[in-house]
Amino acid sequence: MDEVRVRIAPSPSGNLHVGTARTALFNYLFAKRNNGKFVLRIEDTDAERTSQEYIDNIFDSLKALGLNWDEGPDVGGDYGPYTQSERFDIYPKYAQILLEKGFAYECFCTPEELEQEKELATANKKPYVYSKKCENLTEEEKAKLRAEGRKPAIRFNISKAQRAFHPTSELSFDDLVKGELKQNTDLLGDFVIMKSNGAPTYNFAVVIDDMLMKISHIIRGEDHISNTFKQILIYEALGAEVPRFGHLGMILAPDRSKLSKRHGATAVSEFVEKGYLTNALINFVALLGWSPSDGIEIKTVDEIAQDFRINELSASNSIFEYDKLNWMNSHYIKMLDIEDLKEKLKPFLTKYDLSELTDAEYTRMVEVTREPLTILSDITDAVPYFFGEYVEIDPKAQEEILDTDLAQDVLNSFITQAENWEWTEENLHEKLEKFRADYKEKGIKPKNTMWAIRVAITGRTCGADMTAILAIIGKEKSLKRAKAAFKGAKV
Ligand code: GLU
Repeated sequence: MDEVRVRIAPSPSGNLHVGTARTALFNYLFAKRNNGKFVLRIEDTDAERTSQEYIDNIFDSLKALGLNWDEGPDVGGDYGPYTQSERFDIYPKYAQILLEKGFAYECFCTPEELEQEKELATANKKPYVYSKKCENLTEEEKAKLRAEGRKPAIRFNISKAQRAFHPTSELSFDDLVKGELKQNTDLLGDFVIMKSNGAPTYNFAVVIDDMLMKISHIIRGEDHISNTFKQILIYEALGAEVPRFGHLGMILAPDRSKLSKRHGATAVSEFVEKGYLTNALINFVALLGWSPSDGIEIKTVDEIAQDFRINELSASNSIFEYDKLNWMNSHYIKMLDIEDLKEKLKPFLTKYDLSELTDAEYTRMVEVTREPLTILSDITDAVPYFFGEYVEIDPKAQEEILDTDLAQDVLNSFITQAENWEWTEENLHEKLEKFRADYKEKGIKPKNTMWAIRVAITGRTCGADMTAILAIIGKEKSLKRAKAAFKGAKV
């Protein structure tokens, strides 16, 4: 195989999982590194679990992560169609070839009969392998079973393929990530390749598609290793070239269990909805198995591609550290250009009326609130006081700060003086400095002076720079709120 051709083959039974995103990324990087092609194939043979919504989610998520494919259902290519349900006429042909070569046979066992076999194996504490009951049925026997109304499935004859291509029942291959992997094929059992309803099973369809799509390297999770042994035998039985395989360690949650919803978000779109940046997410995901040779972890996908060597991927499991992702995301937020950040924050500000602010005011609001953001959605609770006429005062701050004589005195002076202030941020900065200094002379700590103003204007004890807040919300609102918090003679 000359050209490097890799693929990602998600089953649309859910939104794109971060694990699949990592598999997609490593395939994409491998293709990039080797001037190869990255193919997207949708494996929707399980009609009941498939939905268009999930297919769209897979497309959108991969695109959002920048993992664009060279061939796929939407962009086409020389080896389409790229959606398995559109390829159903292809698989029976190859099943027929295997039947003719004697590497497959028809199986008429009913689900009940198979269940009995399984129960027997369990009772004998043995791993279940199909009994091969139908391996040598005569044509008469088959005709009789057909006459009973039974429809056959087609099973792959493991032992026959193994005997034909491997002298012992041990099958081994050189995994690109894990090195040599071995399996005793006696334990695989003759598995079904075509169901009695005419639909191919995963292990069969995947081989036919990878073969016809000329896939040269198959990089996927280690949960597929046992499938790989079955698949290698199918390639051999068909007389096809066997691609190279590479299996990645699993992604585990911080508690070392399988990453699942109970640990937090798992789908790329869920992370995006929570306010993670896709470039932070893809950078983080790359580190689940890949390590930079220069030790610098913050890297773009292009930079990672320069440094990507498949045989250096970690063969062991990786831990999905949400804390590390948060750190990385906050770093990427800090790096964002202000205009870009303004746009990216908008979906998280829908509960506010942004038209209350001019573009310059919105820009300034983002400038003074961006620093502590870990995820974009943190903005929602950070900015309520920039909107509306009045603010809700935190009851504790009301009692401990606003209700004190000091605060009331501060507010009284503030209201009187601020009426005459020119309302620019620069001037407010100067005026407030002077204001604090005057109180300091009276023995009041600047911090306490400012708390009174901050709680009256924002309803809380901490937040963005006070001068900027006053400048952004404007004189009228600032004074209104100060007056509302002042209990003395209302002006
Ligand atoms: N559709 C399979 C999955 O989602 C693809 C596995 C493979 O890469 O062969 O797990």
